[in-house]
Amino acid sequence: MLDQLTGNDRVKKLLKRMLEARRVPGAMLFAGEEGIGKKLFALEIAKALNCRTPQGVEGCGQCPSCLRTGKFNYPQSNESDDWKGIIWTDHADVGMVVAPKRVLLVDQMRLIEREANYRPYEGKARVFLIEDADKLNDSSANALLKVLEEPPHTSHIVLLTSRPDMLLPTIRSRCQMIRFSPLAADEIETHLVKNKIATPGEARIRARVARGSLGRALAQDLDEFNEQRKAMLRVLQALTLGEDRIQLLHSAEELNDAKHRDEYESRLDVLESLIRDAWMLSLNAPAEKVVNEDLLPQLKKISAGLDGRHPAGWISQIEEMREQLIVNINRKAATDALFLTMAAAAPPLQRRRFVP
Ligand SMILES: [Zn+2]
Repeated sequence: MLDQLTGNDRVKKLLKRMLEARRVPGAMLFAGEEGIGKKLFALEIAKALNCRTPQGVEGCGQCPSCLRTGKFNYPQSNESDDWKGIIWTDHADVGMVVAPKRVLLVDQMRLIEREANYRPYEGKARVFLIEDADKLNDSSANALLKVLEEPPHTSHIVLLTSRPDMLLPTIRSRCQMIRFSPLAADEIETHLVKNKIATPGEARIRARVARGSLGRALAQDLDEFNEQRKAMLRVLQALTLGEDRIQLLHSAEELNDAKHRDEYESRLDVLESLIRDAWMLSLNAPAEKVVNEDLLPQLKKISAGLDGRHPAGWISQIEEMREQLIVNINRKAATDALFLTMAAAAPPLQRRRFVP
């Protein structure tokens, strides 16, 4: 059932209306951030169309058809050849293709075309998902166009992407685009607690640095995450408590250690959440408002060393840096520059307010 999925209530309503009107488009484009459940939403459509004991217009989630729809038979190996076919679920009418390497292949689109033209084997509809549809190149996109133009009324093709702008306009114009929003931190937090994935305290922190993606919140390795927080806390300490400035450069190195951009960004998120916490404390906000509750004593100390206008400046510097990251600047140089600007904006020791 759609209501059991986390977030995106607007999309749920829209999809329900389509099901009620029995007008589920033959070609849809689900666009939105990684890890917010686009694939699960698409599977709910597949379940609804094939369910044997539907609940209203939705799939019951319990019958053999619904149960089989949720189980993909992923290849056991990482050999790209094994990923070139359709990855079927246990349901003979529901499958998916993923790019074996960097691009989706012409042959994969031909397979979808062929399969989409068959009548359903066991249900009433066939549903095909194309993961990371932004990996279509010109040739595979053109191969897909044919079937997108007039899919048989019993087949539905759902393209999933976090980067809809990378798709050819001809593909986009043939699909009904459905935009997903990033999840609210509260929605992620509730999900983590309800499913006993994290303790309430952990869930609160993880949800707030997941940038709207449940997938990201789930993928966080907690030990590693706590290490990151410690490193970023040291940055703040160096900035506010006048502790060893050399530490700043060490921290810049630690930040740059991030293996990929996503990890790097999550470190920036952590730094931002710590800055916001210290800022709030400096404004006498109650301790419950603090996200990193477990670091309260350290954060209080930092907040005492803050000069009201600096945290806002730091956050906007971090935000500026994020924008630059999109155009792939040299990360190392940018981090060093960021920390040095932040340090320059830190209150000089002798003018710092006296805190009894
Ligand atoms: Zn069912």
